[in-house]
Amino acid sequence: MLPRPARFRQLSSFPFTSKSISPTLSTRLNPRHYSSASSSASRPLKVAIIGSGPSGFYTASRILNSLPRDSPNGNNVEVHMYERLPTPYGLVRYGVAPDHPEVKNCQHKFDELSSDPRFKFFGNVLLSSQPSSSPSTTTPSSALSPYTYPHSVRISFDDILPYYSTLVLTYGASLSNPLSSVNGSSSSSNPLENVLPALAFVSWYNSHPAFSELPINLKRIEEVSIVGQGNVALDVARILLKPLDQLEKTDLSNDVLEVLAQSDIKKVRVVGRRGPGQVSFTTKEFREMLQIPHLSFNGVEPGLMAEAKEMVGNERMKKRLLGLMEKPISNDGGDKLFELDFLKSPNTFIPSLKDSKKVGEVEWNLNQLLSSTPSPPTPPKSQDSAVPSPSGVIARPTGEVVRNKADMVIESVGYRSEPLSGEGEGWVLPFDEKRGRVRNVSGRVVDDQGVVVPGIYTAGWAARGPVGVIASTMHDAYSLSDQLLDDHFNSPTTGSVSSPLNPNPEEGIPEALTRAQQKGGIVVDLDSWKRIDETEKRRAKELGNGKEREKFRKVEEMLSVLQ
Ligand code: NAP
Repeated sequence: MLPRPARFRQLSSFPFTSKSISPTLSTRLNPRHYSSASSSASRPLKVAIIGSGPSGFYTASRILNSLPRDSPNGNNVEVHMYERLPTPYGLVRYGVAPDHPEVKNCQHKFDELSSDPRFKFFGNVLLSSQPSSSPSTTTPSSALSPYTYPHSVRISFDDILPYYSTLVLTYGASLSNPLSSVNGSSSSSNPLENVLPALAFVSWYNSHPAFSELPINLKRIEEVSIVGQGNVALDVARILLKPLDQLEKTDLSNDVLEVLAQSDIKKVRVVGRRGPGQVSFTTKEFREMLQIPHLSFNGVEPGLMAEAKEMVGNERMKKRLLGLMEKPISNDGGDKLFELDFLKSPNTFIPSLKDSKKVGEVEWNLNQLLSSTPSPPTPPKSQDSAVPSPSGVIARPTGEVVRNKADMVIESVGYRSEPLSGEGEGWVLPFDEKRGRVRNVSGRVVDDQGVVVPGIYTAGWAARGPVGVIASTMHDAYSLSDQLLDDHFNSPTTGSVSSPLNPNPEEGIPEALTRAQQKGGIVVDLDSWKRIDETEKRRAKELGNGKEREKFRKVEEMLSVLQ
């Protein structure tokens, strides 16, 4: 291992100009090959990607596919991917619904990378400037699960930056948007039991180690209210309402299936602060809801529907969705009720009369819809007095309130990213606290003054916020990678801008990683991940449950496979 360079704590002088920001390059699905002998063609491209979810692995694969190994620059490129869990795939493993296995097929992009020797995976490695790296720090979402990744190898950005010419932040959105002004919410000062952010509930059923020990018990839970009307809300409603035999063959772990088997749920209500014309969920996902066996749905009230139809006018997709919402259905006698409720924002989550630690009711503010001139989006969508929206329809409280029974409340009001800033004097990632994402313009990370930090990029939900499906994340990652390659190979070399990266990166893997391993830390490389993966598949076979895998729910279990 090379000794630590003397300039370790200095900002290196980068052969970039502080150029003006061009709009994101249009995405070309076929990678452009970078084989021209430009002035910077021989400059090594050594990329660190933080986060191994879809935006991370699509970025890695785009970069490597654009520089085939037999091309002039092909042997001058390396991509290293860091991930705080031992397992790759991020949202695909821990966010995508278990009954949507076709969406998980994108994992094969990651698997393709494993055959390229220029790609390395460092799982179970947590960059120490993350707040969650400090055992004493909890974040809003972790108030429920104060998980601090205790088994991970901790290193800082300063430990890795001298080893890379380029850094790409693709660590997604792992916090919930808080409803802190709502009494009894999970982020309030007096959280009630059985009030959970969707992030926590989804992570629990998908066996994310940070949430696998949430004390979820669905016995004696009869009515659930879900706040928010996006696709995540429908994912949760579907998992709660689907008959068990439709979930048994998915990758839900046996522990989770046992909890679902105990469920007494009779009604799930998905509640929006605006009207039927403003729901965020999509037609395909709503249609899937309506196909659940034994489900009944009463259809949206005609008065509300007429108003919504007028509002959406000729928008074809919205009209089709409203058409579906209109019709009542009752499948196989319909003993489980699914309801859509509108024009209601949570005011207070009220303790149950039987057990004051638990939620028993929700008091909602009734809203009316007002049109406003379209305003730029102002995320995070959090508190709810008057809510502007890109469609120009806002919800304003009327002053009236209503209540309904709720034995469980799921807060499904969007996600936000973690700031990777931390204590200490090391390099701090520019982060937009208000919007809950990495500070960037078209994927180029910018400092507080809006000046591009050369060589540092971001893609996916960490860049754009939690919007879009995996396909849009892929397009975003491809577009960002093309921009990154253009910058690297075609940027003018005059002028210089301070950068924490190293234009002549140190060879090999960061010394801090090697040191941590010598002290007993476990870094999960691709071979180790394959062993964990195979063991999960073998467990499913041994249990004979017909599933593809029986997921490990704890990091200790994953790491024990490697000992
Ligand atoms: P989302 O689509 O942005 O929906 C968030 C919902 O929360 C909206 O109905 C929003 O209402 C509401 N909301 C926000 N703040 C609120 C507040 N303070 N009080 C009450 N309601 C509030 O987000 P998501 O459901 O978390 O999904 C994230 C992304 O993942 C989306 O792009 C989604 O399509 C995607 N996704 C896709 C799938 C799939 O394809 N199957 C599955 C899951 C997720 P307003 O509209 O009034 O702001």
